[in-house]
Parts: sequence; C-alpha cells; structure tokens
Amino acid sequence: MPRPVRILDAGGTIAMSGPLARPAAGGLETAAIGEVPLAGPVEILARTSSVQLERDQALTIARRACELAAAGDGVVVTCGTDLMEELALLCDLLYAGQAPIVLTGAMRSASAPGADGPANLRDALAVARSAEAAGVGVLVCFAGELHAARAVRKVDSTSPTGFGSPGSGPLGYVAEERVSLVARPERRPAIEVERLDARVEVVRVGLAADGRVVDLVADAVDGLVVVLAGAGHLAPAYLRALERARRRIPVVAVARPQRGSILRSTYGFEGAEGDVRAAGIVCAGALSADAARITLMACLGAGLDADAVARVFAADDR
Ligand code: ASP
Repeated sequence: MPRPVRILDAGGTIAMSGPLARPAAGGLETAAIGEVPLAGPVEILARTSSVQLERDQALTIARRACELAAAGDGVVVTCGTDLMEELALLCDLLYAGQAPIVLTGAMRSASAPGADGPANLRDALAVARSAEAAGVGVLVCFAGELHAARAVRKVDSTSPTGFGSPGSGPLGYVAEERVSLVARPERRPAIEVERLDARVEVVRVGLAADGRVVDLVADAVDGLVVVLAGAGHLAPAYLRALERARRRIPVVAVARPQRGSILRSTYGFEGAEGDVRAAGIVCAGALSADAARITLMACLGAGLDADAVARVFAADDR
C-alpha cells in the first residue's frame, strides 16, 4: 500500500495568484492544485513569501514536517522558492527518520501562463509516497529533479528549472510519478534544535577585502560564516580579523566557487588554507554560505559546544 502523504502549506509563489502575485485567500488549495488529487487535508502553516518567514515559523514548519514523517507519513512542504534551501536544510538537520520529507514550490504563480506549481506538486506527492525516496533525508523536488537538502541551491531567479545541486548534480528524477535515484546520501544524526534565535551573519572575501567588516560585526553576532576565495584563501589582514573573532564566536568557512572544497596542504602563502585551519576556523567547503549559516544557527540553538559544532560540519569538509 502506498504511504499516506500529508501536505504542509507554507506559502510562496505556489500559493499565490493575481496580476501582481500575492497569497491566495485559501492558500495552496485554491491557488495551485489544478487537477492534482491531494488525498488528504492541507495544513496551512504560513501565507507569506519565504523572505517574510520568521525564525519561529521556520522552526515550527520544520518540526511539524518531522513530527508527521516520524509517525510514518510522507510529507510534502510547499513554500517559497527564494529561501527553500534553508527551510529544506533546517528540516534535514532535525530529521533522521525514514519517511520522505519533500519540499516543492513554483516559479510562476497559479494564475500565470505556464504555472509550474501543479506539476511540481504532483511530482512531490509521488516522491513522498514512494518507497524509493525513503531513508535519503529531506529532498527538494523541482522541475522533475530531486535534490538533497545539503546540496540544493536556487540557481535561477526566474526559470521554472530554478534549482540545481552544483556540487554533485541531482540526486534523482521523477517522471510519470515514478522516482529514480542516482545516489543515496549518507545520513547524519539529527540535531535537537530548541531555538533558532542565534544571530549568524555571512561575510565574504573579495578583491582587496581586508576583514574590517569582521571587526565591525563580531561583537553583534553569535557566529560567523566566511566565504573564502578559491580553495580557502584570504588576505593576511582578513585572517587576523577572523582570528580575533574566533576567540569569542564560532567561525565557519565555505568556499566561494559553487563546486567548493577547502584544501589542506597545497599552498603555503600567508592566508592560505593551512592558516585558516590552524586558526580553528571550521571548514565546510562543500556547503553554500546560506546552508552553513542555517546549520550553525541550528547548532547554536541546540546548545552544541565547539567540538560538537565541528563534528556536525565534518562531513562537509571534503
Ligand atoms: N519567488 C518566491 C517563490 O517562489 C517568493 C517566495 O520565496 O516566497 O515562492
């Protein structure tokens, strides 16, 4: 018997309509369903664009998805695409269960020509009820592709093929409501996130960036994500600023290229990867800055100490 599926409506374009897209009065059900049979009630958890989601709302949505999935149901979360990466990863960080949790949305509102919401929703429902997608963690289902929550990025602001996994490629595909996976990612232990209130900001290395921004923000944040150039490089002055910040707060480094990793022992100039690692900066080169930010927020909201934070990111340092 196929797995029952629950639908959580968390807003976004898929639940919007009108000449200037706005949340539809009845949410997803009145906006986007088209001919898609739902086989169950839709729970409305938010009626906003994803940039308007509050931290508590995001945590509530993720917890509810995990709760339903832990009871054995497949779960589809529909939400805004702009920040779907973060919501998917938050669910994934909280979840170590088997039943699929699948996020989807739309690039075109329900009333726009060529609306993509119904097709994405139909695909996501098929994935959530499938046996193939069990045990692989949280997925984003978009335009017939499946992406792992840790790898997915919104790669296009407007195209209906708006999502990709630049570092690894899609995890699988869905066609005619059949799911095929090309890989099964390694699962991580779930994190017990109590709050999502830590302030974590992202700073970036660029041409002639000297790290002054780090000194300006370090006292106002609970953690920093730094986007390093290339395979983990920065100017010496920037490194010293991070060393100062590091005495007070956790600092996580990701790589600026989309297919990222932070090296270990290739370069020896001041500010190369060896200095970054020696400074106690946690390296997570395979993650996007936004994925690292939400992961660090989750770690801090779970009260993890420095060693535990490093363990959470270890598999993203490859
Ligand atoms: N463009 C967005 C969407 O696809 C708006 C949002 O993220 O809520 O839903």
